[in-house]
Amino acid sequence: MDDIAFVALGSNLGDRRKHLSDALARIGRIPGVAIVAVTSPEETEPIGPVAQGPYLNQMVALRTSLSPPELLATLHEVEREGGRVRTVRWGPRTIDLDIVKYAHTTWSSAELQVPHREIDNRDFWQRELAELAEVSI
Ligand code: AMP
Repeated sequence: MDDIAFVALGSNLGDRRKHLSDALARIGRIPGVAIVAVTSPEETEPIGPVAQGPYLNQMVALRTSLSPPELLATLHEVEREGGRVRTVRWGPRTIDLDIVKYAHTTWSSAELQVPHREIDNRDFWQRELAELAEVSI
């Protein structure tokens, strides 16, 4: 059954706007995924101990038949195609993709928690979710 997934995009290296739009285009081509709505990009300060530049963040609402782990696997491919190099945990990245929540599905395993464990701690996710709030199935 289809559900709505809310995916957060973040970039703080190079041409951040292009990294976000490239990732959105790739997400739109994932089989079993259709983009329903997108927030406007918003700049945020980095979280965590590593000194790095500000992030550009955006959130997308997807109608999808994919389960959370299926969606995460395809998002990891999009991250790889976007040239993200995993160096330092919490460090700078060209594109970071997180599943923030599903409208009607939860998931809890060692590798994946949906809703995301940081959902209540990130004010900009709350703002973006509110912007997408009218989207439902
Ligand atoms: P990071 O990119 O450093 O934020 O961590 C990515 C890892 O966090 C992924 O490889 C997942 O195994 C794990 N993870 C747990 N919950 C989530 C989620 N809701 N969305 C994305 N990654 C998650």
